[in-house]
Amino acid sequence: MSDKPEKFIDENGLRLDGRRVDEIRPMKMEIGVLSRADGSCYLEWGKNKVLAAVYGPRELHPRRLQKADSALIRYRYNMAAFSVEDRIRPGPSRRSIEISKVSREAFEPVVLTHLYPGAVIDVFAEVLQADAGTRTAAINAACMALADAGIPMKGLVSACAVGKVDGQLVLDLNKPEDNYGDADIPMAMTSDGEITLVQMDGDVTPEEFKQAIEMCKEGCRQIMELQKETLKNKFTKLEDVEISDD
Ligand code: UDP
Repeated sequence: MSDKPEKFIDENGLRLDGRRVDEIRPMKMEIGVLSRADGSCYLEWGKNKVLAAVYGPRELHPRRLQKADSALIRYRYNMAAFSVEDRIRPGPSRRSIEISKVSREAFEPVVLTHLYPGAVIDVFAEVLQADAGTRTAAINAACMALADAGIPMKGLVSACAVGKVDGQLVLDLNKPEDNYGDADIPMAMTSDGEITLVQMDGDVTPEEFKQAIEMCKEGCRQIMELQKETLKNKFTKLEDVEISDD
């Protein structure tokens, strides 16, 4: 692993990767990439590469796990063994179990689970290449896979992290900022700005925390634009096919 940089932000206000403090890494995404899943998304964000797949809603077995009045959401975040510098031991870890739990909770307020009593909606987020911000990358991809599967939701969910380096808040941490920064605050939010996930590692003042939320809102707004655009592109193309078939 590289050593801690002397400075994270230069005299021009630019970060080690050339971004401004309020700039997110380039992101691209594609939906419907897996033929056997009901919905899927492949997403790249900086050097992060994540694949999300959604199965369901389908009847939950064993039946004793069914919820009488709603569907159960299961979310599995997993890092591939080859996704990081030091190989990751396959199978669940404390970290992946925690991330899976908070990510599931990030979707529970938006998915209309009451429409599918007794069912399960399975979300799999596989990190193929990790470079800081994988839980938020996975949430962005999972949201698209859910939409691609046609799962009814109140709205989209977008996620991004804010951190602190050199005494300044920065949006969407890169690897050195994540490793050596003073704070890392991943958040997920709906289009209405309702926060569905917030975690915090490190220290910020209450005032900085408020600023972090505002920065994150702006990052999530940009991500949501891309998510909407991706969905529009797919469904406009489908419309074109239907029209040309007539
Ligand atoms: N990481 C790693 N090995 C691990 C876990 C994480 O190399 O077992 C790296 C990976 O690049 C990840 C980064 O450390 O993206 C930051 O991890 P963190 O736990 O903060 O979660 P993330 O920012 O990916 O959501």
